[in-house]
Amino acid sequence: MTTETTFASLGLAEPIMRAIADAGYTTPTPIQAQAIPQVLEGGDLLAAAQTGTGKTAGFTLPILHHLSTRAAQAPKPGRPRCLILVPTRELAAQVEESVKTYGKYLSLTSMVMFGGVNINPQFKALKSRVDILVATPGRLLDHLGQKTVDLSGVEILVLDEADRMLDMGFIRDIKKVLAVLPKQRQNLLFSATFSDEIRTLANGLLHNPKSVEVARRNTTVEIIEQSMHRVPQAHKRDLLAHLIKRHDWQQVLVFTRTKHGANKLAEKLIKDGITAAAIHGNKSQSARTKALASFKDGGVRVLVATDIAARGIDIDQLPQVVNFELPNVPEDYVHRIGRTGRAGTTGSALSLVDDEEIGYLRDIEKLIKRSIVRVEVEGFTPPPKSELMSDERPPRPPQGRGGQRQGQNAGQRPGQGARQTQPGNRSASGRTPQGTPAAGSAKPAARPAPNRAAPNNQSQPRKPRPQAALFSAKPGSRGH
Ligand code: AMP
Repeated sequence: MTTETTFASLGLAEPIMRAIADAGYTTPTPIQAQAIPQVLEGGDLLAAAQTGTGKTAGFTLPILHHLSTRAAQAPKPGRPRCLILVPTRELAAQVEESVKTYGKYLSLTSMVMFGGVNINPQFKALKSRVDILVATPGRLLDHLGQKTVDLSGVEILVLDEADRMLDMGFIRDIKKVLAVLPKQRQNLLFSATFSDEIRTLANGLLHNPKSVEVARRNTTVEIIEQSMHRVPQAHKRDLLAHLIKRHDWQQVLVFTRTKHGANKLAEKLIKDGITAAAIHGNKSQSARTKALASFKDGGVRVLVATDIAARGIDIDQLPQVVNFELPNVPEDYVHRIGRTGRAGTTGSALSLVDDEEIGYLRDIEKLIKRSIVRVEVEGFTPPPKSELMSDERPPRPPQGRGGQRQGQNAGQRPGQGARQTQPGNRSASGRTPQGTPAAGSAKPAARPAPNRAAPNNQSQPRKPRPQAALFSAKPGSRGH
């Protein structure tokens, strides 16, 4: 699409234009420039857009336009005209916030609905007019079962982050919802990735869809600076604390694979004098909201999150993402790093990679079709496997003074202060800085066990598990 597209040329209603101006948006993002005209035309849409591209406004703005310029058929309380299905509570809350932001000069009403919270306020809200309902599938089905919501008036259906909904095992729930929708409606499907499963869903759902795509399939947002550091699992916490201090990172989103790992890491960082909070599916909704709010307003510097809890986190200009562990599903890497570099801002994503994770790294690099820059911080780099075999000693942790001088590279990004090496190389000098003393701020880490197989429970070799199994959890935990 041309870069000349302006909001004025899109033909959106005046109250929507005013809200866009209030939000400070001057030009439509590429997905908006492509999707808005298509949605305004009224047909179905298949959109390949990663998070951070401005996709939410891409569908919300034209939906608000349609609903505000067309009269509702048989309006009734609890009978929405637009249904937006999303995978997680956080995303639901954020999409509804966007609906409110862009619709603030319109008389349309919206509601957010997700599980894990008391259902009674939702019953109450459904007794009033609801034009736009943003919901996670599980809780929506609960309401359908109790007949507290009526979907017979849905004119527009959106499946947002459809790939994630399928990953989370929501396909059956989605089908149940589709079965009660009126046949005549507009369907919009947004997905970051396009598996065969998504294509099957799209084929069954969409009629002669127009398709729009803003990034090549399965590629990472180009503006994100990506680097990785090979480091034994047992040293990761010390390295992270060291990097946060050395670079003076003020807002870092860190991904761990497990909820337990998220808690432990947050505790460790706090002990090291770095404000941190953890969010994951075992935390109550109010704890998650509170942690996210403190992270947004700078009250905590580090938010440690599992993939699922982080889904939908939307922070303008989040500068730094760290993969404390690599995800075993390569597409999750794309989702994770998409938390930074949003809407055209630059961002940086660093992955801490233990030898056990090299296979995951290869899968990720294959998917994104590029190699991630290797960086090293002296004292935190393990010897290659061949050296380990000839010399049974494990890599020594940082020892306090000397080595990479503290403050020397303060404020720099990985890749600037730390040495960059080609994939597979050990370091620029070719030497492994085994046992080299490291920065003064990094405390000596616990000496890992010789075979480095189990310094803690997170470094056990992990068997890849299907996403559905990872996330389907206990009964009643749907709708996260
Ligand atoms: P999304 O991909 O929908 O999660 O949006 C990512 C971020 O981009 C959000 O913080 C939006 O507020 C922001 N955004 C959306 N559209 C624009 C725009 N046209 N100009 C500037 N920022 C935008």
